[in-house]
Amino acid sequence: MTASGVWDPDFDTPREECGIFGVFGPDIEAARTCFFGLFALQHRGQESCGIAVSDGTKIRMHKDMGLVSQVFNEDILRTLPGHIGIGHTRYSTTGSSVRRNAQPMSCTTMVGDIAVAHNGNLINAAELRHSLEQDGEVFDTTNDSEVMAKLLSREKHNHIEHAIGSIMRKLQGAYSVAILTPRQVIGFRDPSGIRPLVVGKLPDGGYVLASETCAFNPVGADLLFELEPGQIVVIDESGYRLSQGVPASRPAMCMFEFIYFARPDSTMYGTLLYQARTQMGMELAREHPADADVVIPVPDTGIPGALGFSRVSGIPYGEGLIKSRYIHRTFIQPDQRMRELGVRLKLTPLVENIRGQRLVLVDDSIVRATTTKQIVRLLFESGASEVHVRITAPPIVHPCFYGIDMARRGELAAAKWSVEEIRQHIGATSLGYLSIDGAVRAVGKPKNTFCLACFNGDYPIPVPVEVQKDIFEKPKVGAFATVRSGQPALEFDSE
Ligand code: SF4
Repeated sequence: MTASGVWDPDFDTPREECGIFGVFGPDIEAARTCFFGLFALQHRGQESCGIAVSDGTKIRMHKDMGLVSQVFNEDILRTLPGHIGIGHTRYSTTGSSVRRNAQPMSCTTMVGDIAVAHNGNLINAAELRHSLEQDGEVFDTTNDSEVMAKLLSREKHNHIEHAIGSIMRKLQGAYSVAILTPRQVIGFRDPSGIRPLVVGKLPDGGYVLASETCAFNPVGADLLFELEPGQIVVIDESGYRLSQGVPASRPAMCMFEFIYFARPDSTMYGTLLYQARTQMGMELAREHPADADVVIPVPDTGIPGALGFSRVSGIPYGEGLIKSRYIHRTFIQPDQRMRELGVRLKLTPLVENIRGQRLVLVDDSIVRATTTKQIVRLLFESGASEVHVRITAPPIVHPCFYGIDMARRGELAAAKWSVEEIRQHIGATSLGYLSIDGAVRAVGKPKNTFCLACFNGDYPIPVPVEVQKDIFEKPKVGAFATVRSGQPALEFDSE
C-alpha cells in the first residue's frame, strides 16, 4: 500500500518513473497513435498520463491521474486534433502523486508554445529550481520537467535545438525527453544515455520516438536507431535530423532496464531483452546450481530467467504460480484479512505442480524481500519440500538517483543484511544472486558502458552529498546462502 492510498501489487519491486512517446506524420492521427504507444509503455508508469498534440499551429493537451485506458476515451481523443504529438505515462513517488504533476508540461518559449515529457531524474533539479525562483519564476508542480520547461522558456535562441543544447549544459542527471512544438517533435538524451530513447519509422511516412521499441509494434513502426548519449533528434516535415546537444560522457545505460524494467519484447542497446534475461538465467545456473526437481518462475518477469536456468541445469521448467492477468494499482484497498493473505491477491499456487517437489524459484530482483518471503511461504504451504531462490540480478545495495524508485536505502534488504540473513528472512532452502559480471556477460556489452550503481555504488554522475547521505555504509552482501530444508526463518523487526 502506498501513502497515497493506492493498493499497489508491485509495491515491493523497483519502479520506473516514466515512459515517453512522440509521433510526427503527415496523415497521422497523433492523439490516437500516442494512445496506443503509451498503452504499450504502461508498465513504465501507472499513476498518471497525458497526451499533447499539434495541428501545426496550436498545441492542445489532456492529462489526468490513472491508466492510459482510464484517462482517454474516444470523446477526449476527438478534442485532440493534429498530426504531431507526444505522450507521457508516469509513476511518481507517493508525495508527488497529484494531478498537477502529470505530464506533459507546457510553457511558452521563443519558438512558441511547447510541451515537455521527461523520463529520468535531474540530480540538480533543486538547485536549478532555487536559482529560477530567485529570478522570479513561480512553479506549479514539484517535478523536474517543469524545471526543464522553465529553463527552455528563458532561452533566447530562435532555433529550438540551440535552446535545448544550452539547457542540456545545465542539466545533471538522467533524462530522456520528448518535446512538442507547434511544428516538430524533438527528442534528446542525457550525455551518459542512462534512460533509453529510440526512434522508429512509420510505414506511410512519419516517425515515432519512444522509451522502448515495444511501443512501435502497435503503431506499425520499425526501429531506425537508438538515440546516442547527448544527441538531439528533431522530427518535422522535412524528415529527421540529428545533432549533438552536449558531448557524450562515460556511457552508463541502466542495467536494471535489462534485468526488469523494460518489456522483454523491447530491443535495447542492440539486444532483445527476452534474450538477455534468458542469458541471465543461464549465467545464474552456472554460478549457483541447485539440486532440484523443477524450475519455476515468479510470473511474468521471472519467466525468461527460469527458462535459461532450466536450459543450463537440465532441470525441467514448470509453472508453479499463476499471476492474475488484470491486476494493477487500484484505489480500492484490500481489507485487513486480505492484506494478511498478502501475495495471494496477485499469485495463485498450482498445488499439483508444487507438492512434494524440490523447487528452484527464479525471480528478477529482491528489493525489501517482503514479497519474496510471502512467495516462499506460499510454496512451502502448498507442499514444496525445498525452495531454492535464484535471483537474476545482483543484490541491490544502493538507492537509484537516476529515475528509479528502489525504496530508501534503509529498506533495501541487501543493504541491511547479508545474503545468509536474507535467506533466513525469506525462509528459503538456499538463495543465490547473479553476479554483476554475470549480468554484464548476459547482455554482452562492455561492463564500463553500464550504470551499475545500485549494485556497486559507483554512480556514473556524481550525486550531491546531501542527497546520498547514507550510501557509504558498508554493504553486507555476499553471493550465496543455503540451509537444510525445514530450518525456521528468522524474523526481523525492521520490516
Ligand atoms: S542506479 Fe541502478 S536502477 Fe538506477 S540507473 Fe543505475 S543501474 Fe539503473
